[in-house]
Amino acid sequence: MDNLSRMTNHYDLVVIGGGIHGAGIAQAAAAGGFSVLVLEQHSLAHGTSSRSSKLIHGGLRYLESGQMALVRECLHERELLLNLAPDLIQLQPFYIPIYSNTTRRPAQLRVGLSLYALLGGPSSMMNKATRFRRVPRREWDNLDGLATDDLEAVFQYWDGQTDDAALTRAVMRSAQTLGAHLHMPATFTGAQLHEDSCSVTYQHNGQTHTCETKVLVNAAGPWVNRVLGHITPAPAQLAVDLVQGTHLVVAGNITHGIYYVEAPQDQRAVFVMPWQGNTLVGTTETVYKDDPAVPLLPLPQKQEHDYLMQTLAHYFPAYRNQPVILSAFAGLRVLPVGEGKAFSRPRETILHVDRLECPRLLTVYGGKLTAYRLTAERVMQRLVSALPSRTVRADTRTLILSA
Ligand SMILES: Cc1cc2nc3c(=O)[nH]c(=O)nc-3n(C[C@H](O)[C@H](O)[C@H](O)COP(=O)(O)OP(=O)(O)OC[C@H]3O[C@@H](n4cnc5c(N)ncnc54)[C@H](O)[C@@H]3O)c2cc1C
Repeated sequence: MDNLSRMTNHYDLVVIGGGIHGAGIAQAAAAGGFSVLVLEQHSLAHGTSSRSSKLIHGGLRYLESGQMALVRECLHERELLLNLAPDLIQLQPFYIPIYSNTTRRPAQLRVGLSLYALLGGPSSMMNKATRFRRVPRREWDNLDGLATDDLEAVFQYWDGQTDDAALTRAVMRSAQTLGAHLHMPATFTGAQLHEDSCSVTYQHNGQTHTCETKVLVNAAGPWVNRVLGHITPAPAQLAVDLVQGTHLVVAGNITHGIYYVEAPQDQRAVFVMPWQGNTLVGTTETVYKDDPAVPLLPLPQKQEHDYLMQTLAHYFPAYRNQPVILSAFAGLRVLPVGEGKAFSRPRETILHVDRLECPRLLTVYGGKLTAYRLTAERVMQRLVSALPSRTVRADTRTLILSA
């Protein structure tokens, strides 16, 4: 922040939310030379960004719903992030077992994995990250006790795993190094939109503060529409569904890699993966009917526990004997209201502005942890007409992120 900003509390951007998107936008803004303040009501990654499946991936299953552009972009970001954050993101082998009753058949999977490799781009074709193979039967005994009755084939490919909260903190540190400011805990309480700026009110250290900004960015995750309700004149809101995804941390160490299995109950994809010396299993997809309380997120439900534990025990018989659940967490996906099951709805990020020319307010709906950097760059492109010209300080494509 320059001296002028410090004295008058004027910013180019104020960002509401210290999740991966808020941190990413702060980094992109600061790299672009803009003054930026992030307001986070609780702690960094308190919301969805610490409750994800922790995968830096293209999303193999999105190929089934034809979301090629999303998969290609995410694979490109995966490659970039593997280089920028080697301490924080590890390439892991993923295993997909195919049993006699598995819906996706070996030929289908081979096509899907070939397409996934192709979408990774020609530059990465020779990388380990885009290789896949059929695991020979003699190696099946090494797969963490995976059930082998009626097992017909196992495919292996590669994707990234991270600690989502640590990644968010690293991105925010990078933003702060470039001059971004963070107020935390600081709760946004209201904003007034003017012709070409915005007055923002927030609570910080038990006091009410105000500041002026050229642009207000709403990156409040599941709370986005709640935040919009505190802005005058009232901006338009997109109708969204909040879809709860629960994970369980179960005692017992899965070591070999990440297993991508079909839930026996409804054939949805469930991941079983190593996590901090134990096993992480998730997720569910339950439409959440309430307005999420501030600052808490919903608790996992009993039926979600049962669904995940049944799936784990089905594929890993060692977990049939009363395994200990160490912890559980639930996050909320923000999905545009639409027809059909939440599971197959588009996962593209929506950037919603109050007006096309010189927006004063931009809201981020949905999105992927994997694509946070690209989303942040798109946010900055969308806002360029509303911002003063500044001297670029850095390029987010080259900023190293450390744990
Ligand atoms: C179950 C689940 C699994 C997922 N798995 C993956 C995955 O494996 N890979 C992947 O790429 N993506 C995944 N995603 C998507 C990804 O996790 C999210 O898109 C991403 O974390 C959203 O980040 P965000 O910054 O938009 O929101 P959040 O992380 O929710 O951040 C919003 C922040 O805003 C703050 N806030 C809200 N209101 C206020 C206020 N009034 N004042 C101040 N602060 C406020 C909150 O405290 C919160 O910290 C998953 C999502 C879910 C739900």
